[in-house]
Amino acid sequence: MAGILFIISAPSGSGKSTLVSQLRTLVEGLDFSISYTTRAPRGSETDGREYHFTTRAEFERMIAAGDFLEWAEVFGNYYGTAMSALGHAKDAGKDLLLDIDVQGAVQVMKKMPAAVSIFILPPSPQVLEMRLRNRSEAEHVTSEKVIQSRLAEARTELKQMWDYRYALVNDVLDQAVAELRAIVLCERGELRRGAGAGFELQDRCCFASFEERVEYLSRLRTCYPLRIVYGFSSG
Ligand code: ADP
Ligand code: 5GP
Repeated sequence: MAGILFIISAPSGSGKSTLVSQLRTLVEGLDFSISYTTRAPRGSETDGREYHFTTRAEFERMIAAGDFLEWAEVFGNYYGTAMSALGHAKDAGKDLLLDIDVQGAVQVMKKMPAAVSIFILPPSPQVLEMRLRNRSEAEHVTSEKVIQSRLAEARTELKQMWDYRYALVNDVLDQAVAELRAIVLCERGELRRGAGAGFELQDRCCFASFEERVEYLSRLRTCYPLRIVYGFSSG
């Protein structure tokens, strides 16, 4: 692929889809990979728009045929990124955005180390639960079992955030969208650090070195005490 590969992951309900759809209206030249999944469509989801909805048999046939860049089983369903998404973005001269879970992200990071990985955090477990419940109600699929399994999975996924190049908290939507946009533009070299007023945003999101990123994440860890709010024993 000629362009940049962006990977975005977040615990389910953090607001990743909301952020990504807003980002796509603000940034040009960014292709979105439509994943394959065996889960049923939710709410107003349409085949070929949010996902390619498929059967387990067909998904397993695609695995065997080597059609996936990565795939994973998430919440009992298969999800995967078609290898062809890379070719399509390359042919169109665009960057490519993958919205995938942490298992898939780790596979892509290994295969494509230059990929730019971004982890999105909810402001707190309580807000995550509230967002999951609100979405379930809006989509008329209020399953307590589904909500509880997604909250449990969130605790595991959050431990992986340290493997990502960027981490941002989706608290105030407009600010999180602006940070996400700043990351994309920074990676493209369309924004420069310290270039004047209004550049605090990319200063916060862009890291000149690995040490700087570690320093940023340490500060984030301080103001966002994962261990306490998520009951982690480490990390
Ligand atoms: P995800 O794709 O991470 O599973 P969604 O984008 O579906 O999450 O968002 C989950 C719910 O939270 C949706 O109802 C969405 O409208 C809401 N939401 C997303 N971001 C915010 C935000 N910053 N503030 C308040 N609500 C939000
Ligand atoms: P949802 O069912 O809420 O749409 O997605 C559940 C999880 O699957 C989310 O974390 C989402 O990022 C992830 N996901 C969506 N598409 C893919 C994919 O192609 N590969 C992998 N590994 N995960 C995906």
